[in-house]
Amino acid sequence: MSNAQITSLVTGGAGFVGSYICEHLLSVGQKVICIDNLVTGSKSNISYLIDHPDFIFVSHDIIQPAYLDEILKGTIQEVDFVYHFASPASPKDYSNHPIHTLKVGSMGTLNALGIAKRYQATFILASSSEVYGDPEVNPQNENYLGRVSTTGPRSVYDEAKRFGEALASAYYHAHGVDIRIARLFNTYGPRMRIDDGRAVPNFMFQALKGNDITVYGDGSQTRSLCYVDDTVEAIYRLASYSNLLPANRSRFENNPDPIVVNIGNPVEMTVLDIAKSIKDISESKSEIVFKPLPIHDPKVRRPDIGLANRLLEWNPVVDYMTGIQHTLKYFKTYLKEN
Ligand code: NAD
Ligand code: UDP
Ligand code: UDP
Repeated sequence: MSNAQITSLVTGGAGFVGSYICEHLLSVGQKVICIDNLVTGSKSNISYLIDHPDFIFVSHDIIQPAYLDEILKGTIQEVDFVYHFASPASPKDYSNHPIHTLKVGSMGTLNALGIAKRYQATFILASSSEVYGDPEVNPQNENYLGRVSTTGPRSVYDEAKRFGEALASAYYHAHGVDIRIARLFNTYGPRMRIDDGRAVPNFMFQALKGNDITVYGDGSQTRSLCYVDDTVEAIYRLASYSNLLPANRSRFENNPDPIVVNIGNPVEMTVLDIAKSIKDISESKSEIVFKPLPIHDPKVRRPDIGLANRLLEWNPVVDYMTGIQHTLKYFKTYLKEN
């Protein structure tokens, strides 16, 4: 790429993961256009970026088309990368916004792909381990086709992500858009919303407040938690490695489909152990109590990251204790200030 400044569009850039992507792209000298409708994100996630000369915030619902030359009055000539991260992401959020979740995963992804096609930009899709559903294999690698309910409570999210992958693949084959699909596994860290209902913020809030820590089911189901800095580093490599350009791929791959890569930390823990460790680290007197397991809650989840390792020369480096301590510190401060 030439020395001209790179421009990236980040949909969902005011969300948890998206805000770190914006921050990282600015730190390497890019211009960043962040599109967000703040349905589950917040301005406070990007408050320290707002005054950055290379950061543009656009309040817009990506379910509606977005013509950047009109919105930005001709100030943007090129877009080099489109990171499509807009979507409610926690089970509580997507249950509260079921139709919005389906629309942003379908129509929102269509519009983001339309932008990438128009500017011949590389398109990075935030997909999810949820495309694997409640898996029959553990760990999950990219060839596993998944076990997903089309009608259950998680379907609005899981099927939206599966549709998004299919649509992005169609743009790869039909329009030659450079598509890179990231299947993110549970990512955590500072700036998660304290009330988003996910295990880490729930357990931390409960532990810090001295409330009961609610483990669903018997807590034997597993998750593999990846610290956000590791996730963002992998996403950035996935976007920027030029050996992944469609024209270069035949050298090392014999796969006609776009790049699909798992991003996560393979250290697998039971949910009960996650709850216990958060109680211990926060020196909380909270009780651990057991509540009903939500329907179709995956029993196991662990990424096979062999492909990310080979293609991106990437491995997560933040260990669980370090990541949990950073996150706990963030929530402590948050609770003091709010
Ligand atoms: P988040 O809710 O914090 O961020 C999503 C952002 O998208 C929010 O700022 C929200 O306001 C915005 N948004 C939603 N609908 C929009 C719309 N129609 N138009 C514009 N903006 C919209 O969630 P997150 O955890 O940061 O997740 C970011 C992305 O990564 C999502 O696509 C999610 O599915 C994916 N992902 C996250 C995880 C994880 O563990 N955090 C795991 C797998 C996949
Ligand atoms: N789109 C957009 N901004 C752009 C280019 C396209 O929002 O800069 C939208 C467009 O309105 C359409 C979608 O992206 O809804 C797909 O566009 P594409 O050109 O691929 O398809 P077509 O409009 O030909 O169906
Ligand atoms: N969970 C729990 N108690 C809570 C919140 C979540 O036991 O207060 C469990 C949930 O049932 C699931 C795991 O923790 O088994 C991870 O849930 P989360 O919502 O973080 O993400 P998921 O991987 O289910 O999308």
